[in-house]
Amino acid sequence: MNLSYWEYKTWLSNIDFTVVGSGIVGLNCALSLRERFPKAKILILEKGTLPEGASTKNAGFACFGSISEILADLEHHSEEEVVELVKKRWDGIQLLRKNLGDTNIDFQQHGGHELFLKSHDTLYQSCLKELKKVNQLLKPVFGEKAFQTNENSFNFKNIQENYITNRFEAQIDTGKMVSNLLKLVQKNRIGILNSIKVEGFTDNGDMLTVKTDQFEFQTKKLCIATNGFASQLLEETVKPARAQVLITKPIKNLHIKGTFHLDEGYYYFRNIDNRILFGGGRNLDFQGEQTLKFGETDLIQNQLESILKESILPSTPFEIERRWSGIMGMGNQKKPIVKQVSNNVFCGVRLGGMGIAIGSLVGKELSELL
Ligand SMILES: Cc1cc2nc3c(=O)[nH]c(=O)nc-3n(C[C@H](O)[C@H](O)[C@H](O)COP(=O)(O)OP(=O)(O)OC[C@H]3O[C@@H](n4cnc5c(N)ncnc54)[C@H](O)[C@@H]3O)c2cc1C
Repeated sequence: MNLSYWEYKTWLSNIDFTVVGSGIVGLNCALSLRERFPKAKILILEKGTLPEGASTKNAGFACFGSISEILADLEHHSEEEVVELVKKRWDGIQLLRKNLGDTNIDFQQHGGHELFLKSHDTLYQSCLKELKKVNQLLKPVFGEKAFQTNENSFNFKNIQENYITNRFEAQIDTGKMVSNLLKLVQKNRIGILNSIKVEGFTDNGDMLTVKTDQFEFQTKKLCIATNGFASQLLEETVKPARAQVLITKPIKNLHIKGTFHLDEGYYYFRNIDNRILFGGGRNLDFQGEQTLKFGETDLIQNQLESILKESILPSTPFEIERRWSGIMGMGNQKKPIVKQVSNNVFCGVRLGGMGIAIGSLVGKELSELL
């Protein structure tokens, strides 16, 4: 389809900054660019009708890492690096709250609990043993002791006697977050075109030509914020990782409140609108879930249902209302890739399972490379 003179002139000429991807990173990058360049023409291109990666699909945990995750990280990173990772998440969540306001993301701090399976006694004991050390290590981030033990007040089954709770952990409404980011983008005169897939680009030195599935145009700078899909446009080691989720119908008198990590973080659940949202199980089929295709599998969905029935809601009848998946971007390191790729191309990708926590900060850092 040829674009008309008007279409081209209004939407696609004299573009200063083009952002690819309208997830939490792309939207924050565009907003930070607007702050720094009040007169610039900024365009966001998004392949989905709605953002279509992880930012509208996730579980909405505003989390910093459960105790077993932090101990596992300490096996491969120095203490300083682990403190830095946790601090980034803390700072990122504070930035998200500052940018949008707690009401606009429905921020609720009920604490985050790690549950240990009965069969994981060794892990449980070592987390209990290291509790004091981890609290001491992370005191500069949280200001006080973050982790403590709590008894199993929600009566989950097949787990160890106590949870290990981070009382600073919180939850947000992911849909509200993205919808309010989109409103801010509109308010800040940033153009956004949906259902446009960027297929490639050529950096000509002082200008770039961007090829999409519908048209070509020129831009001065390009910011790639496509996370799990990054390897389609960049030569960076980002592997897609699909994550599957289900949600129950509303449950009368649901007493469970908070965010929960189970089986070393391979499963996670929370309350939302009197329902339980439950995700995970990638470890059942790592290879199969390393895909760019959205979709649900019986293997994982059946396991989610069976854990829900046997451990989380053992004496409460429930029905499943909806199932979905999202695509994350993973690598052999937990650090995101935020860097200049060529003269006029920059990227902020590979956010792993922590994009809610660090996405606002990564978007800002990406914009500051320009
Ligand atoms: C099921 C699930 C649960 C999760 N739970 C949590 C959680 O509780 N807490 C937490 O902190 N994190 C969680 N995450 C991770 C978090 O959602 C991600 O890290 C974060 O959303 C990544 O944001 P992003 O903007 O980098 O990427 P995305 O949100 O994936 O945005 C990238 C965008 O780029 C678009 N795009 C890709 N390629 C192109 C192209 N060629 N042209 C145009 N557009 C393109 C995509 O459609 C997409 O909208 C979860 C993820 C999933 C999937």
